[in-house]
This record gives sequence, structure tokens and C-alpha cells, in this order.
Amino acid sequence: MRRLLASGLALAVAVLAVTTFARTPAAETAEGVLEACGPGKQKIYARDLPAAVVNPERCPVAGREIEDGGVGSVVPPRGESVHAEVLTTTGAEELEIGRREDGTIELGSVGEDAGVAGDFAKAVGPGECSDPEFTDGERRVPEDSALLYEINKASTPPELSTRDAVGAIRRAGARVVNTESNCRMGDRVPAGLDYGGKTNQKANVDGFSCKNNDENSVVAFGDLPSGILAVTCNWGIVGPGYDETVASDIKVNKGDVQWTTSPGSRSCRGMWDLEGVMTHERGHTFGLGHVSETGHGNLTMSTNINGACQMAERTLGRGDVLGLGNKYR
Ligand SMILES: [Zn+2]
Repeated sequence: MRRLLASGLALAVAVLAVTTFARTPAAETAEGVLEACGPGKQKIYARDLPAAVVNPERCPVAGREIEDGGVGSVVPPRGESVHAEVLTTTGAEELEIGRREDGTIELGSVGEDAGVAGDFAKAVGPGECSDPEFTDGERRVPEDSALLYEINKASTPPELSTRDAVGAIRRAGARVVNTESNCRMGDRVPAGLDYGGKTNQKANVDGFSCKNNDENSVVAFGDLPSGILAVTCNWGIVGPGYDETVASDIKVNKGDVQWTTSPGSRSCRGMWDLEGVMTHERGHTFGLGHVSETGHGNLTMSTNINGACQMAERTLGRGDVLGLGNKYR
């Protein structure tokens, strides 16, 4: 099962890397329901839907899952939204599903954000302090209520000490809240992120798909398809402007990926920097979207982590800080 999922993901990433997304013509069943949403289909493929906004009568989605090339989510209840991201060793995929009060489904980032094949370790683009690019994910953590999260310490993989893992996870969150960069800019984000200690809960993630919002925010290591570094799910309330994120889970691959908190050490071989990956994921928690790896590879929010045994993603770049400043004023 794991191998199947992984090869599907790799294929999806490879295809998306070279093609602009083309939606297939939408067929209908006799009742006016879109073929892609027909009865008995547990998964609905975003690429088979005719538009970014779908009428609920033509696509009854309750209890079903929408998938888009290696990332997916259970459809949220009315008035709620979810942002899902899958970060792999060679790229990333995002998907947003908003469900308005009238039941209409609104999709975002369908087919975008594929990674870069080839030597992505050589970041392409301006230096981190001269690249102003950012993508506004159109959601944010409410400024009046800090996001409280817990860590499943017992899930820490054997290559890390629990103390080191917790330290890296906490520092990554603080880096985004404090807009820490090497660029002498920025101020802290007015929304907060509070660490609430350990939990026994798992992250609310199944494969590369987000489950329903359970209103807790958890960081946990666990089983993910190979090739995936981490999956982040941000659940929230559909807003008139920004959606408000009320819970954010991050599941980090345990077993298929080797993690380190000392990526600069001479003995590092093929190990990924937990703090750098977590900083990227916390960028999503606070509502940043991706920028392309091909032109903006030095920014934390570019689609690729710049390889193993390096820590470039730990510090935010100019565009990352500007993106936060744009949404939190
Ligand atoms: Zn990402």
C-alpha cells in the first residue's frame, strides 16, 4: 500500500512538473450530478471537476474526500475550510477546500506547486534577502486567539532525542511568529503560537490526506508514504476576507526519512533538518503559500527543501517576511 501511494505521488509530481493543469471536460450523470462526483465514489479528483467553484447539487460531497495529485482532504463541513500540504523530498503540493454556508465548494491550488526535478539543492533565484516574492495563502491565525499546539513526544524517531526534536519543533514555530530572518527586517506576527506540552494524540492525517478537524493542533511523527517529508493540515472558518485557521496539525514521516537537528555536522549523511522543514510548515500554519522553486529557491516557502544535511529553510527570507507582514498588520 505504501509503495503504491508513493509511486502514485511521484508520478503526479512528475506530470505536474511539466504540464499546466488541464481540466478534463466534465461529464454528467442522468441526475445532473457531475460524473466525478457520482454515487459510490469515495474520492473525488479535483482535476475532473469543471471549475474552482462547484454547486453542491452537482457534486454532493458530504463525507467524501477530494484529491489533487498527491494531496487530499476530507471535505469540511459548511462554513469551514481546510488547507492541505504535502512536502516531499522533491517538491510539494497544496490544496484548499472551502465550503461556504450554502454548501458550495471552492477549490484552490488545484494542480499547482509541483516540485522541481533535477538538482534542486542548488537554489535558483535571488539571495534570500533580496527576493521579495510571496504567495498569500488567504488564511491566517486570528490575532486575538493564539493557536495552542501539543507535541506527541513519544512518537519521536530513534535517530533523534525527544529533547532535540521538541526544541527544533518549538524553535521553528517561534521563527515564524518572530519573523526571524538574516535580513534585518520584519516584526513579530501579532497572532501567537503557544506550546501546550505533550500529547498522546496522533496528527489528523491519513496517507497524504487530511481528516476532519478535531480542533486540536498536534505535531507528531508517524507513518507516511515514502518520499514524503511531512503533511500539514490547517483547518479553519471561511471568512469574508481571510479564512481563520483554528487548528493546524503537522505529521512528520517516521521511518522512511532520517531526521537530524545538526544538519551541518560532518557526519550528516542523507538526513533532513527537522527545524528547517518545520519552519516551512509553520509558514503554512500562519497562512503563507508556496513560491516557485525555479525562481525563488532561497526562500523558506519555495516548493523544495534544498536537500538533506543543510538548514537554509530555518531562516525566513525577504519574501517570507513580507508575506507575513502583508497579512498581519
Ligand atoms: Zn509547503
